[in-house]
Amino acid sequence: MEKIASFTIDHLKLLPGVYVSRKDPVGSEVITTFDLRMTRPNFEPVMNTAEVHTIEHLGATFLRNHPEFSTKTVYFGPMGCRTGFYLLLAGDYESRDITGLMVDMFEFIRDFDGLVPGACAKDCGNYMDMNLPMAKWLAGKYLNEVLYNITDERMVYPE
Ligand SMILES: [Zn+2]
Repeated sequence: MEKIASFTIDHLKLLPGVYVSRKDPVGSEVITTFDLRMTRPNFEPVMNTAEVHTIEHLGATFLRNHPEFSTKTVYFGPMGCRTGFYLLLAGDYESRDITGLMVDMFEFIRDFDGLVPGACAKDCGNYMDMNLPMAKWLAGKYLNEVLYNITDERMVYPE
């Protein structure tokens, strides 16, 4: 079988960032898939599942309540390698188009207090597997390391 496009990125050179992973035409629309890379692959520890799960619940809640992007959000969820998340938006976007949205989303997560939305047995398949303090810490790290002063090398995949 052919190697799929996302496996052709050199993960040894990839820094945490906001990347366009792919653009897929669907009917007359384009779906943009963003690679929200939060940890440096193969150089630093991956995120644990509990904090990934908490970021997923909070990020999805933020996006699906957003005045502009709620209707554009197709999907938000974790990468299996636990180094980041995928965000799928309806429309043709570049990284720069969503850095403001990502700052707002990760500030929402960093500053969140209280019960994680959807963290109950009726709403979720594994609701006790949550780690809000670590999710908040990781959101702060991504803001400081990537989002607040984002540069081109963190928006364009390495050659
Ligand atoms: Zn869940």
